[in-house]
Amino acid sequence: MSLSDQQAAGLSAETVVVAAGRPPRERDQPVNPPVVLSSTYFGTGALDTGDRGYGRYSNPTWDPFEEAIGQLEGAELPGLLYASGLAAVSSALSLIPAGGVLVMPTHSYSGTLVMASELARKEFVQLRTVDIADTEAVKAALAPAGPDRRAASMLWLESPTNPMLGIADIPALTGAAHDAGAIVVTDNTFSTPLVQQPLALGSDVVLHSVTKYLAGHSDVVLGALVTSNPDIRSALLHNRTIHGGIAGPFEAWLALRGLRTLALRVERSQQSAAVLAQRLSSHPAIESIRFPGLATDPGHKRAKAQMNGFGSIICIEVAPAGGLDGAGAADKLVRALQLWLPATSLGGVESLIERRRRHAAEPVSVPENLVRLSVGIENVEDLWADLKQALDTLGG
Ligand code: PLP
Repeated sequence: MSLSDQQAAGLSAETVVVAAGRPPRERDQPVNPPVVLSSTYFGTGALDTGDRGYGRYSNPTWDPFEEAIGQLEGAELPGLLYASGLAAVSSALSLIPAGGVLVMPTHSYSGTLVMASELARKEFVQLRTVDIADTEAVKAALAPAGPDRRAASMLWLESPTNPMLGIADIPALTGAAHDAGAIVVTDNTFSTPLVQQPLALGSDVVLHSVTKYLAGHSDVVLGALVTSNPDIRSALLHNRTIHGGIAGPFEAWLALRGLRTLALRVERSQQSAAVLAQRLSSHPAIESIRFPGLATDPGHKRAKAQMNGFGSIICIEVAPAGGLDGAGAADKLVRALQLWLPATSLGGVESLIERRRRHAAEPVSVPENLVRLSVGIENVEDLWADLKQALDTLGG
């Protein structure tokens, strides 16, 4: 590959997203890696001995993305690409020993919570959910408790959380988890490695739904895990190979193509989110707003200490209006928009908006009138004009 780990360490992330994962700088080499469509490889050696072997074990199209995400997260090893963010969640949870204790934010991404709850129902793990912004409560959840007095095996972090935008004190919590003998997995989907680097903050494993910012165009579903620990990486690789949650080569190629513009997209969408959050916070149709970039946000100080920016997700609670309750007014707002796309997901070039509780899986502690906005890269004044005309239809 074109960029060694040593070279990457000396370059800024804006350069690494462009330069990492390229073919060797040799005459007639393509500047972009090819898509390799093959389910098997010439060879007479046994599987698991380092040869490519078979398409569930490895594919050359995965390698450039895995190299790039490893370098961006500051890891000593390449990342691992998965079929989806949730396939990566499943693989990370497989690190917990049978019956082990998993401490997880009450407001993690709903799919992650559903998976953990199902594992707990079958008694494969013990699940303790906790307000991740409450450091003392997390420490208490990590400590030995329950009939068998077990301490936690894994601390799951998501910061900011989806969708409540709670901010965890990552350095304090990784320290406490390690003291308790737990490993720490941090879902860094909302921030990207450009905004937050969980390995440097003490996390053992970083997770991404590559579907979101990293691929960035709402056209692929993929996930990734990154670690600097060779034993953890081997266990994850074995799990991916045997459970089969592998990425398709076309998707892997598209993700690398999307990654090339990550720095520009993140910069633009963060700037626009800051402008929109400020304006939304004084609109009378809005009851409350969450955005860690606002000085009034409860997570602002912590976010400022551990993030390089505040991301581009904003959540608002819509006030009851015109005889509608808050949820009804939120639905009306979403329907009145003409530029913002009413769709689930986040992190693409296009701005997306949705009322989260329309999904049955969303925790009931997420307010019914909460609307999540994923700010894209369109012109900020166009985005504001559309939001304002839709909010004004509520007559607040
Ligand atoms: N983690 C977070 C924070 C998410 O928002 C999502 C999806 O919305 C996932 C994980 C799951 O990723 P995927 O949809 O790629 O499986």
